Amino acid sequence: MASWNSYCYCKLCDRPLSTHDYGTSLGKKTTYCRFCASTAEATGKSRIILGLVLITIATPLIYLQVGNKPLLLGIPAPVITILFGAYYIATHFREKSTYSPIYDRWVMKHGTDPDKWPGR
Ligand SMILES: [Zn+2]
Repeated sequence: MASWNSYCYCKLCDRPLSTHDYGTSLGKKTTYCRFCASTAEATGKSRIILGLVLITIATPLIYLQVGNKPLLLGIPAPVITILFGAYYIATHFREKSTYSPIYDRWVMKHGTDPDKWPGR
């Protein structure tokens, strides 16, 4: 089932954008809104998974491989994977707190079916 992180968002239009409502340019790195042409923000389902994998799988593996030997700037490798994991998880929750309310508001007004959203 689709949820808030299945869509891109336009802050200017204050709405979620389904696949028909945004375009990509510059080798798909930039997403833009079809209604106002401003840059839209893409959310990612995979960030929280990536974060959890880094902490629960990559960290013990790296610890077994290299132990607590300092890798970068004197920081042990397992600490680096935990920091990256925490960063991805934090990004997920920051996105959720920004976009989930926009999605909820929109869906209350226009329903969950993106084919019936205005602007088609
Ligand atoms: Zn827009």
